[in-house]
Amino acid sequence: MATVLLESVNKRFPDGTQAVTDVSIEIEDQEFLVLVGPSGCGKSTTLRIIAGLEGSTGGVVRIGGRDVTNVAPKDRDIAMVFQNYALYPHMSVYKNLSFGLTLRLNRLFGGGVIGRGLRKIFQPQRASEFVRQREEIGNKVRRTALRLGIEHLLDRKPHQLSGGERQRVALGRAIVRNPAAFLFDEPLSNLDAKLRQQLRVELKRLHRDLKATMIYVTHDQVEAMTLGDRVAIMNEGRILQVGGPLEVYQRPANLFVAKFIGNSPINLCPGTVSKVGDRIEFESQIPMTWGPGCPRFDELDALLAGSSNARAVVVGFRAEDVGLAESEGAIEVEVTEVDRLGESTMVHSRVCGLPIQKSKEDKLVQKNTIQQIVLFRLESDAECASGDRLRVKIDLERVLWFDPDSGENLLKE
Ligand code: ATP
Repeated sequence: MATVLLESVNKRFPDGTQAVTDVSIEIEDQEFLVLVGPSGCGKSTTLRIIAGLEGSTGGVVRIGGRDVTNVAPKDRDIAMVFQNYALYPHMSVYKNLSFGLTLRLNRLFGGGVIGRGLRKIFQPQRASEFVRQREEIGNKVRRTALRLGIEHLLDRKPHQLSGGERQRVALGRAIVRNPAAFLFDEPLSNLDAKLRQQLRVELKRLHRDLKATMIYVTHDQVEAMTLGDRVAIMNEGRILQVGGPLEVYQRPANLFVAKFIGNSPINLCPGTVSKVGDRIEFESQIPMTWGPGCPRFDELDALLAGSSNARAVVVGFRAEDVGLAESEGAIEVEVTEVDRLGESTMVHSRVCGLPIQKSKEDKLVQKNTIQQIVLFRLESDAECASGDRLRVKIDLERVLWFDPDSGENLLKE
């Protein structure tokens, strides 16, 4: 197996589309790296550049330390699994699995049927080596089929298989080749949710068993979080952050990553922060105060040091960082929707009691026309319904601060 290294890789298509911009990343030997991002962000193009199916317009690709930038796909020692299986429809599962290996064997020994007959007579040792290697291919195919639970399907044709079985065959075809690295391009997206989850678990097991380097492309952040040792989040051709699943969830590099990663949308609240006496005040529809000794006070204080003015920030917090509370600092919200998810309850709410002020025309208007929405999670049997008023509190230790202009996370560490 091998490391895969991309150094300042770029791709500009002839029509001027800049699909990949300055992508540099090292995928370690035996690592499972997931490239994730919205449609059109350049993840498939990046994968195809690693495979050699697409030429880059700048930068270097190394596999196992070897510069393969200008090496043909078949000589890169990688195997790729696509979303649409790409099986040979007229061949049995056995033949689909063995085809590549048999082709290579025939090339090595040459001669077709007649040549093989002649070899038996004039080169008996070479003929028996051919037979030995052909048997080895058979064993490899059966071992792989067993590993993937498709050994009973070896005689079937692709049209006699379910989607999940076909994808297992496609996986098997990659495995039998024992490549330096596996590349996956959304291989599960044609399958239903339950099967996807099952195959995700199997893929993880395979990765452990094969001790293989795997690079996996998906637009599904759940897939990315559950599969990847590390996750690389892409947008508009660039990698925005690379990190472990928890790292990118808890310490997103910027607003884009914060919004993209996570099952439920992160709560975001724009406002201003300033030092008032020895306290840090966040003025917004959800006011927050950090006093000395509060979690993260020192970090926030350091960030504001030297500036006497209020600083605009966007504060972010996850649904699980909000809890019911009666204590000081709690805010009142009105429940707008309740999603019963089974294992928990997701509550959509709106902040109550927004400041009212007089406009120039002396009419009463709300200071902010958009009422802040707060999404939070309660236990599965929590008693609450649309219209209820609840008091909630945000865990100040978990709050993120983003720069409203650049989107950068101001408290990355
Ligand atoms: P998806 O999840 O929808 O497959 P992706 O993140 O894999 O998207 P790519 O397929 O890598 O995105 O495409 C990146 C950008 O390059 C897109 O804007 C796409 O339209 C463009 N693109 C892809 N192939 C070509 C091509 N052959 N010529 C011109 N532009 C292309």
